[in-house]
Amino acid sequence: MSYQISIQKTQNPKSKPDQNKLGFGQIFTDHMFIMDYTEGKGWHDPRIVPYGPLSMDPSTMVFHYGQAVFEGLKAYKTPEGKILLFRPRKNMERINISNDRLCIPHIDVDLAVEACKTLVSVDKDWIPEAEGTSLYIRPFIISTDPFLGVKPSSTYKFIIILSPVGAYYKEGINPVKIYVETNYVRAVKGGIGYSKTPGNYAASLIAQVEAKEKGYTQVLWLDGVEKKYIEEVGTMNVFFKINDEVITPSLEGSILAGITRQSTIELLRASGIKVTERRITIQEIYDAHAAGTLKEAFGTGTAAVISPIGELSWNDNVIKINDGKIGETSMMVYDTITGIQSGKKEDTFGWVVE
Ligand code: PMP
Repeated sequence: MSYQISIQKTQNPKSKPDQNKLGFGQIFTDHMFIMDYTEGKGWHDPRIVPYGPLSMDPSTMVFHYGQAVFEGLKAYKTPEGKILLFRPRKNMERINISNDRLCIPHIDVDLAVEACKTLVSVDKDWIPEAEGTSLYIRPFIISTDPFLGVKPSSTYKFIIILSPVGAYYKEGINPVKIYVETNYVRAVKGGIGYSKTPGNYAASLIAQVEAKEKGYTQVLWLDGVEKKYIEEVGTMNVFFKINDEVITPSLEGSILAGITRQSTIELLRASGIKVTERRITIQEIYDAHAAGTLKEAFGTGTAAVISPIGELSWNDNVIKINDGKIGETSMMVYDTITGIQSGKKEDTFGWVVE
């Protein structure tokens, strides 16, 4: 199907950044995609326009009640100059899962993927080519009624912006130190934990700040009721290798269903490695460490793809995992997924879209 996305090109293109000095999420391209929703009319006016500020009434609902959702994915330029997106439909299907929970009307997945492709091709000269770099794509939906009252908005905007980002690992993959959070909780069953919505991230900030003060990179979240079961790590899903089995927490409503998580599970199973999705306690991880059977631990997410965990601190008990070095399973997953994303490895799974 083809959609009528109008394109208004900028008259004032910005200068491109130095590819070797890119950070994350600080620089934005020349254009953005916008589409409006009006009750009774549905989503309308899909358009690409010059990137710039939005003008909104101070009473706009999103500022007050946070009725909003977002996504994150990346585009890569291959050595041959092809542009690849990694499983973009999965992100647009997930935004609709978040939409359901936040009472936001569904978007058309095909149109949203088409919008991503069109915007990325309009700004294709912004996709960096240096090793490990990519173009981060941020689709999001905000509620736009100018109204101070708690109810679902009757108008919304779906917007996509693009940001060239640097290599996550500039000096090789370094395992990180993780603080097991026992005071704050991120989400509970029946809450919004499985949705990609701003409130979850706002709720997580204080734990992140306090963990940093203690010298840790991120927190490992435990379940919100018993503070016993492992949920996720920062903005990543988490995996543990015990003996020859890889275990990751099952999706039970309080954690985000990561696309890197799903890809990791599919890849490990295709490689003949046993993967189990189940509830797992932090005690079990410490017991496995004591027994010498905890081989590896790693986080998975779009930003870093794989982030090995070298150290855990739980109630002042510190354990080192795999001597603080990256393990072979983590390395294999990282090499394979980043290879497929960047077009350097054959995509036997059908994950990338040109
Ligand atoms: N959990 C949370 C809370 C996240 O924000 C993310 C990043 N989107 C993930 C897990 C990993 O998801 P994905 O692999 O789709 O990036």
